[in-house]
Amino acid sequence: MKEINLAEFETEVLAGGKVVVDFYSTECPPCDALAPKFEGLANLYGNDIKFVKMFRQQNKPLAEKLGVKSSPTLVFFDNGVQLEKSMSGGIKRSDIIHQLDSMISSERVLEIKSHIKPTVSEFDVLILGAGPGGLTAGLYLCQSKVNTCLIDIALPGGQVSTTHEVSNYPGFINPQPGYMLSHNMSEQTKQCGTIYKVAVDVTKIDLENREVVIDEFETVKAKKIIIATGTSPNLMGIPGEREMKGKGISYCATCDAKYYGDKEVVVIGGGNSAVEEADFISKFASKITIIHQFDAFTANKQAQEKLFANSKVNTLFSHEPRSFERNGNKIVTEVEDLKTKSRIKLTSDGVFIFIGMKPNIELFKDKLELDKWGYIKTNEDMQTSLRDIYAVGDVISKKYRQITTAVADGTIAAIAIAKELG
Ligand SMILES: Cc1cc2nc3c(=O)[nH]c(=O)nc-3n(C[C@H](O)[C@H](O)[C@H](O)COP(=O)(O)OP(=O)(O)OC[C@H]3O[C@@H](n4cnc5c(N)ncnc54)[C@H](O)[C@@H]3O)c2cc1C
Repeated sequence: MKEINLAEFETEVLAGGKVVVDFYSTECPPCDALAPKFEGLANLYGNDIKFVKMFRQQNKPLAEKLGVKSSPTLVFFDNGVQLEKSMSGGIKRSDIIHQLDSMISSERVLEIKSHIKPTVSEFDVLILGAGPGGLTAGLYLCQSKVNTCLIDIALPGGQVSTTHEVSNYPGFINPQPGYMLSHNMSEQTKQCGTIYKVAVDVTKIDLENREVVIDEFETVKAKKIIIATGTSPNLMGIPGEREMKGKGISYCATCDAKYYGDKEVVVIGGGNSAVEEADFISKFASKITIIHQFDAFTANKQAQEKLFANSKVNTLFSHEPRSFERNGNKIVTEVEDLKTKSRIKLTSDGVFIFIGMKPNIELFKDKLELDKWGYIKTNEDMQTSLRDIYAVGDVISKKYRQITTAVADGTIAAIAIAKELG
């Protein structure tokens, strides 16, 4: 892979042809995750598109001029002109391929695709999901010298990486930023030697044959699989939500609250997440209206007391949203009073929804015994109804879903598996 400096940028990138530049940094896990994908694609597309790397820290003024704000960022050029599309963060192979394909003729795309050789790799254990549950299982297995591969559709860390502060994970006197805690967990497991395949597309999961296909052409086989895919936020399922998801409607305060400085926000929900996150959003927003279907919050007392003492927060109990509509830059939330059935409209700059979670089991839900809420049933060793398939963390049927409980599940599964594998 050719590494270029500022002096070479003119001749290697601007002089002509099709070029993709990877602005990377050191000590950057997403850059490490991208590197093998970039290398592999350079081998495939290298006759048509030039692939080069630039060390961002050493080329800061150029990176800033090109709009590069984080590492890694891929910037594309055609005949010396920078293309509008760039990519950063946990970049998926399929997204890069999509962009590369758009830069060359469809005949060349077909020809290049005909050269893709499917690969197969084998491990003792394959873990699906690199949140606290999966990462802990990976750590214990690795320390037991069990050859383990961790696969995640996103970067490692799971939900913790998008939680603004964690104050109840033992071992830290002060609250920890969620991204720091998940970064440390991930690095600990990685440094032990667990193989990571992250920010990939999971194309197929065959639990019976213990095979997972990622990025269409890469099959990963294992003697045992641990499912640690966690949960995703529930949607309201009302008109306007899908259209405005990510465009004013958010499910992650850590990710998006910062965009609402001195703005008005509606928060929907009444459990711990809604109440704690509403308090966090109030660090930025000027006014928050929290809508809850019952006439009292279900969050713990301490969180409620903090919220009630917050002068920026208004509460609307016994109300339920019915639709979202855009009005210029604003979102209009139509809300029904569940007692009188009358409706009112609330105008805000953004909406945050925290109404519970659902298990991430789409690709294999018909193969395993589930509870009536769709969570995977396990025994005390975290074994599922299918031989050699284990499940840990938020995705399993249990009463309390916390980092500590996910970590405990991961520990149990890993010890049980290590013993079985001998
Ligand atoms: C807003 C919020 C605040 C929270 N605050 C706290 C707190 O303060 N303290 C606390 O203890 N807990 C807290 N929690 C709960 C805690 O985050 C979870 O209990 C914990 O992260 C569960 O870990 P997990 O490994 O089971 O799943 P997750 O953390 O959800 O990780 C699952 C991983 O699986 C990946 N994945 C999903 N589908 C697939 C697939 N098909 N193939 C491969 N990978 C896949 C995901 O990308 C993700 O990385 C909070 C949760 C939320 C939402």
